[in-house]
Amino acid sequence: MITSTTGPQPADFADVRATNLAVVLRFVREHAPCSRADIAASTGLNKATVSSLVADLIDRRLVRETGLTENRVGRPATMLVLDGSPYAAIGIEINVDHVSAVATGLAGERLLTWRRAFAAGGSASQDVAAVAAIVRRVVARMAREERQVLGLAVAVPGLVDVQGVVRIAPNLGWRDADLAGDLAKALRDPGFAVQVDNDANLAALAEQRFGARAGAADLVYLTGEIGVGAGIILDGRLRRGGLGYSGEIGHVQLDPDGPACRCGRRGCLEAVAGIGAILRRDLSPSEIPVEIEDAVRSARAGHPGTLAALDAAGRGLGRGVSVLANLLNPEVVVLGGYYVPLAPWLLPAVREEVSGRAIAPGGGGCEVVASTLGLDAAALGGAARVLDSVDSGRLPGAISRIS
Ligand SMILES: [Zn+2]
Repeated sequence: MITSTTGPQPADFADVRATNLAVVLRFVREHAPCSRADIAASTGLNKATVSSLVADLIDRRLVRETGLTENRVGRPATMLVLDGSPYAAIGIEINVDHVSAVATGLAGERLLTWRRAFAAGGSASQDVAAVAAIVRRVVARMAREERQVLGLAVAVPGLVDVQGVVRIAPNLGWRDADLAGDLAKALRDPGFAVQVDNDANLAALAEQRFGARAGAADLVYLTGEIGVGAGIILDGRLRRGGLGYSGEIGHVQLDPDGPACRCGRRGCLEAVAGIGAILRRDLSPSEIPVEIEDAVRSARAGHPGTLAALDAAGRGLGRGVSVLANLLNPEVVVLGGYYVPLAPWLLPAVREEVSGRAIAPGGGGCEVVASTLGLDAAALGGAARVLDSVDSGRLPGAISRIS
């Protein structure tokens, strides 16, 4: 069951109807093909209400009929599946040297995956124009496919507050940037919502919706970049904390006498087990993929120095994950980013540390796995966040009213 971060608060009839439309849409997403009677039986809504809600969803082209069922007892029923063919959700991830863009359909099918070079210019206002240009190209492509954009969510590596203001993005050189507002302005009031969130948060949403452990109610995603951040989903919902700054696991101190961290402190998780620490070099972002390939080759060849370095990093990472296991009791911790290609050598040490350090037997059931979503998980998570908004009741209008 996908639960989204912001459920509508039923206040009047329109809200109740929007809530019920969302309930039916979610049911079809999870159980298609299904009949109107299936929906009524499972949701507790009466059949007449379900028929009216389904008619509305068909008008909006969110759901469509797909012939009659077979192999059923009793009268054949018309089955329903997700439609969504006239819609797209867009996710963008801003990185130091590139921007990733992903567009998906309503059912999450991938419509577009782009990676474009991008040089963060030192201030958000300078960079907004470049990001807006990429968004415009994605929107234009979707328009050519006759798809209406349902929304855009942008992932940023940094502290993003609950209002979507980027407070600090050290690697981009941004401070107090109202990225959502500036992007909406640069896009000249695009007619869809623009949201901004931390990259780990959005990657966690991508795992919850599309990952190997999709549907997990208690899931933590760890970014595996120079920095290490956590996106935390508990009880089915993303947990941002009071101001939106949860998940800075990269700066949990593992060793007071450890190596210096970028934050000015010592022995932080990312200084011990971040990608820079694993590769033992100060690297520019563009050098990392090549260095990772070298490390993988060296580990495969059994080079003792490489194996020892990966084991040490895995132990550091495992100490960090055991903090998560003790504090949050997640079902699964997903290692993302550049941890994925290194996972065969990191995971044994990580798992050993977690089972040794978590107070609950068996690490409290905490599994540690490598992401299957690739390096654009946060961009995909942007699209997931837009789909979450739709699932929680922010539905596009009836097509006849739009066109
Ligand atoms: Zn630090």
